[in-house]
Amino acid sequence: MAIDTEITTDFEIVIGLEVHAQLLTKSKMFCTCSTDYANAAPNTHVCPVCMGMPGVLPVINERAVAYTIMTALALNCTIPEYSKFDRKNYPYPDLMKGYQISQYDIPLSRNGYLMIEHEGQTKRIGITRVHLEEDTARLLHREGYSLVDINRSGTPLMEIVSEPDIRSPLEARLYMQKMREILVYLGVSSGRMEEGSLRCDANISVRPRGQQELGVKTEIKNMNSFRSVERALSYEAQRQIELLQTGQPIHQETRGWVETKGITVGQRSKEYAHDYRYFPEPDLPPLIISRVWVEELRAQLPELPDARRARYMDEYGLSAQDANVLTEEKALGDYFERVVAASPTSDRKARAKAAANLVLNEVVRLLKANSFSLEENPLSPEASANLLDLLDKGRITGKQSKEVIEEAFASGKMPETIVKEKGIQPPISDQVALDRIIEEVIANNPKVVSDYRAGKTNALQYLIGQVMKKTRGQAKADSVHSILITKLDETPSA
Ligand SMILES: [Zn+2]
Repeated sequence: MAIDTEITTDFEIVIGLEVHAQLLTKSKMFCTCSTDYANAAPNTHVCPVCMGMPGVLPVINERAVAYTIMTALALNCTIPEYSKFDRKNYPYPDLMKGYQISQYDIPLSRNGYLMIEHEGQTKRIGITRVHLEEDTARLLHREGYSLVDINRSGTPLMEIVSEPDIRSPLEARLYMQKMREILVYLGVSSGRMEEGSLRCDANISVRPRGQQELGVKTEIKNMNSFRSVERALSYEAQRQIELLQTGQPIHQETRGWVETKGITVGQRSKEYAHDYRYFPEPDLPPLIISRVWVEELRAQLPELPDARRARYMDEYGLSAQDANVLTEEKALGDYFERVVAASPTSDRKARAKAAANLVLNEVVRLLKANSFSLEENPLSPEASANLLDLLDKGRITGKQSKEVIEEAFASGKMPETIVKEKGIQPPISDQVALDRIIEEVIANNPKVVSDYRAGKTNALQYLIGQVMKKTRGQAKADSVHSILITKLDETPSA
């Protein structure tokens, strides 16, 4: 069964995804050129190897192989003892050598899986293989001519191929999101789809429900976000179903997703493996992968998102919802854990809950409002922990804490320093004083009080506002609320 509401109940959608991830190595796949070319001038990170000059010898980047094996292990794949590189031959202006060094019949790994979840349902998606290859150069098309930037040529590129186990566009999006989470947690990919360092192609076909044989598939390219993966596949499934329903043939071809129009368009007929005339790369030695090395790499695997999510619920008592959001981005979860760690407190679960609320509401809001990434967060975990301490001790009210955190975010100062410098007064803990102020407000607003008694609930909000104003925000809103209600109910009607 598919995790989704079906587009149609008469047809079943079959999808397999090919994910390409540029690996975060310092140098390229087969030469010493730096991969840090994002902000470099075109054709400045190049050498005879990645420019495809004749007579040069490629050398395998060991880190790229290690990253690929780590990814394969995280995806529950088997790693063979022997692997090799092959030449994939095709002529295209972005392919400097006229062939791409890739892996054909003996990839670095096979037979894994990844679990996706949606609204409490889980589903296992098979991983056919994870292999290693090199990226191509980049073509920049201009009016009447094209430019080539070779900086990207030879960047390590990992390809992850799924089994055709995906049954809906929603599942495809969930799979991509989960894959990205895992790659970012492993630290092998930046996961940035918008920059093209993480890319996705999809094979999709439809068949009448109950039919064993697969339908004719098309390959969809140019999907640059999670949203476009889901939209493109929904469109394409619908297109294929309509062709079948009207008795027209589906052609096996590559189609591009046009984001602005919301459609897929035919680009070229699909190549088959034999079109590429694969043969073993004669310039590279085969890879002998020792079991010792594989176990060393396995030991280096960090905690993955699923495990972290379960731990947040178990160890910190967070809700599934909060645990999900905190673990989607590794950096956000890291920050949350550092806030908790910076808090010497006896009640760790209560502090974790307060920290989760602070991070998910205030910190995320401030980052968004200032267009900062988590790496640029000016609010240190210690500052967040300090704010929670001040709240815990009753030194500031929730209302005052908003002002303090804004200031801490803007200035980078510790909240306790801000409280001192700004002369923020502690909350009114003097019950008698608070009672008196509330009684005054009730006495001074007879019209609003009678409105409240007549059932106008927003009259109460007005009265609370008046009290807060008189106490200059030093009263706790929840106690004002309960005292007001008690007093309004006990004071005889006029
Ligand atoms: Zn190079």
